[in-house]
Amino acid sequence: MGGSDGRDDLPPKERLGRDSADLLEESADVEVVAAVLDLAVTRRLHRRRATLLGMNCPRGHGPLAHENLHGIEVDRCSTCHGVWLDTDELGELEATGAPNENDRRGMIEYSKRASEMDCPKCSARMVAFDYRANSLELDACAEDHGYWLDGGEDGRVRELIEQRVRDLYRAQTAEASWGQFMDGLRGLTGKVKR
Ligand SMILES: [Zn+2]
Ligand SMILES: [Zn+2]
Repeated sequence: MGGSDGRDDLPPKERLGRDSADLLEESADVEVVAAVLDLAVTRRLHRRRATLLGMNCPRGHGPLAHENLHGIEVDRCSTCHGVWLDTDELGELEATGAPNENDRRGMIEYSKRASEMDCPKCSARMVAFDYRANSLELDACAEDHGYWLDGGEDGRVRELIEQRVRDLYRAQTAEASWGQFMDGLRGLTGKVKR
């Protein structure tokens, strides 16, 4: 084990990802710090590769191809039909089924746990979660690069968001009917008292 002298040569923490910075904070071990730096450099190279050459399928099927999905520019695997959405593009996909922004409010990532795949952009291990508390498991980059949807899951997202809109309006209509009913009752009692 080396001393702590090597730490003086480290690049500023700001140049590392959030996770790396946390690890550096916790560890005074130079070898661990070196491993973290290696990882940070590897991730930076992956990001650069992804920018220059495009991304690979996180399920190991090679390059993703550009595709237009309901007007959104996405990256699709021709083998497993999984699709990569950049961070904003999940919202854009939801908007195709729920155009009103209010209907898309609320938490999206429930019950987060470790994913079995790495982010195709930065190679960091992704996070699996239940989409809007439904039984649909999606994967997200922990560093907010985007989402991986397995084959068919983009269709499920649209079905579920459309269902959400229907449920919201049903609830609103029920509430409005109840309000009218109560107003009616009040009107009646008003008349009785007079
Ligand atoms: Zn694939
Ligand atoms: Zn990433």
